[in-house]
Amino acid sequence: MHPDLEKMIVLQSLDGEVRRLTEEMAVLPKRVAALAKEHAAASQALTSTIEELAKEEALRRRQELDVKDHQQKIARLRKQMDAVTTTAQASALEHEISFAQTEIAHLEDAELESMERTEQLEATRAIAEETVANLARRHAEETAKAAEVLEHDRAALTDLNAKRAELRPQIGENSLSLYDRIAKSRGTALAEGIDHKCSACQMVVRPQRWNDLRDRGNDEAMLTCETCGRLLYWDPARDAPQKKPAGRNESLAAAIVRASL
Ligand SMILES: [Zn+2]
Repeated sequence: MHPDLEKMIVLQSLDGEVRRLTEEMAVLPKRVAALAKEHAAASQALTSTIEELAKEEALRRRQELDVKDHQQKIARLRKQMDAVTTTAQASALEHEISFAQTEIAHLEDAELESMERTEQLEATRAIAEETVANLARRHAEETAKAAEVLEHDRAALTDLNAKRAELRPQIGENSLSLYDRIAKSRGTALAEGIDHKCSACQMVVRPQRWNDLRDRGNDEAMLTCETCGRLLYWDPARDAPQKKPAGRNESLAAAIVRASL
């Protein structure tokens, strides 16, 4: 393996972690903000329901006062009835009494309708109160968790960047500019050759190239995947997984240690 390749493998894993942390740091505040928005909307819905309830109560108080007014009017009209002298006067008063009675009946119907609305609004309020309480708790939890994760991520990122800054000058200038160029266009610059394929684009590596890749005496050559252009490397410990009971994550060094036991 070309000596720069081993360092670039480490660099790529550092770069990948930097990217993951950077994305996480961008996503977390957005998630908390979305939760804050949801919490605010639920609180607003609860406030509206409480306002609606107050309106219904005020409406019924007015209706009850109106009923009382009509009842007093009826009482007054009945007293006047005692003093009437003509049938015309009596029928006029009776007409007024019956009008007031109809008004009372309408008001009482309206009052019942308002009570039904209140009942529904109270059910809505109970659900809204529970929603607001749940969201308030989740919002507080997520805010605290996000702050913790962000603090951890910032520290980890500082550490990773220090490692990158130390590693990059150890890589040959040409190799590094090649790495940067491929990484910029492809996201990753290196791909492991596994089982005659490029593990990044899954395309088959031609036999001659595969042999060159596996030729460990060929230290000066840096081979690229003909399909995606990434730099290929080959780890014998990783290849032919069916022959490796210890699993595909075993490193070259670990495989050597195991073989020597
Ligand atoms: Zn490829």
